[in-house]
Amino acid sequence: MPIGIYEHKKSQGFQKGNQFGKLNTGENNGQWKGDNVGLTALHKHIKKFLIKPNECKNCKKTKIKLDLANISQSYKRDLNDWEWLCRSCHMKKDGRAKELPKRLNNFMKTYTKTKEFRDTMRKSTTQVWKNPILRQKILEARKHRA
Ligand SMILES: [Zn+2]
Repeated sequence: MPIGIYEHKKSQGFQKGNQFGKLNTGENNGQWKGDNVGLTALHKHIKKFLIKPNECKNCKKTKIKLDLANISQSYKRDLNDWEWLCRSCHMKKDGRAKELPKRLNNFMKTYTKTKEFRDTMRKSTTQVWKNPILRQKILEARKHRA
């Protein structure tokens, strides 16, 4: 689960929290916002706007319990990044997506040791922090070094 940066305030929509504020220095806030909403709040938000259909978007079964599923696994606040799937299709898709963190983990193990990584961190931490998965990997890598 991405690190919660935003909390949901009923009347005001999404608000920036303090938890990660210092890492957000110099960031283009407008662009950054949507991709880091706390997951539960994000689900609520998407559910409100992405109307639940009668059938699973994938297998077209009706009269079945539907889950709100994320497509890109980046949990964007973009309605196009979400779909209603039956439990079975949702599980299948998530299973495929589990390969991603594994590959990313291996990549980061090597990548955090390179000069390119240090330069990237210095020049533009914002690029990296924008991606919640990368951000978490880097924080983990830092912990191990400390
Ligand atoms: Zn289905």
